[in-house]
Amino acid sequence: MTQKIALVTGANRGLGLEISKQLGALGITVLMGARTLSSAEAAAKPLSAAGIDAVGVQLEVTNKDDIAALAEWIDRRYGKLDILINNAGIVLRSSGGNLDAFRQTFEVNTFAPFLLTESLLPLLLKSEAGRIVNQSSAIGSITLMHTDETVRKLGDPAYAASKAALNMLTAYWAQKLESTALKVNSVHPGLVQTDMGGANAEIPVEEGAKTAVALATIDADGPNGQFYYMGKPLPW
Ligand code: NDP
Repeated sequence: MTQKIALVTGANRGLGLEISKQLGALGITVLMGARTLSSAEAAAKPLSAAGIDAVGVQLEVTNKDDIAALAEWIDRRYGKLDILINNAGIVLRSSGGNLDAFRQTFEVNTFAPFLLTESLLPLLLKSEAGRIVNQSSAIGSITLMHTDETVRKLGDPAYAASKAALNMLTAYWAQKLESTALKVNSVHPGLVQTDMGGANAEIPVEEGAKTAVALATIDADGPNGQFYYMGKPLPW
């Protein structure tokens, strides 16, 4: 098997940084995306110093030019991509009818993973075991919005809708690509101690990263088109 190559978006802090560390520790080359090249390289530096093959790459996920340039560069340098983690995400305050916040949330949480994934599909299909992991949230589960007290209390309407739409993309791609080696899954990381989750969140970042890493490295007989949290399927 050739060296595996992974791309993680929003890899300069929080879950993206930890996912990069954990994938790197498995011997996978990690392309760490961040809005600017300097922040990407700064995030990759300590990982490289720890012996991980980490490369900082510029990827403002809403920027079409960044996406096109990165796809072209990955093709030239590696000729394939094995793992894509659509992790970059934001939560804004859209309640009360703030349409700008609603649009911006969708730009980052839904439109960006759509364009990035579609742009990288030819490279992912060149992998022997391509894996796409969409970093979603239990707040994007329509079932849990009806049934789970915590989900009902948490979250912003745009954030919830953006993650529900991301989940549909997971199901869509998984079905469309069913006859290929590619697997596409959504994950919920838990309520994690990051800038987004807050210091009082219940799960340390090392634990929160594990669901994405597990789905990024599943075997050929692993799940496809599912929504996972800590080894268990979640309802859509
Ligand atoms: P953080 O806020 O700690 O980090 C978000 C990351 O996304 C940062 O690296 C940020 O970069 C990056 N990012 C945001 N917008 C863009 C953009 N336009 N282009 C490139 N990068 C961008 O969040 P978490 O690490 O907690 O969250 C990661 C993912 O996990 C998100 O998708 C989130 O919705 C999801 N999640 C998190 C939960 C939690 O409890 N923490 C719970 C459920 C889901 P920058 O530093 O430049 O802003």
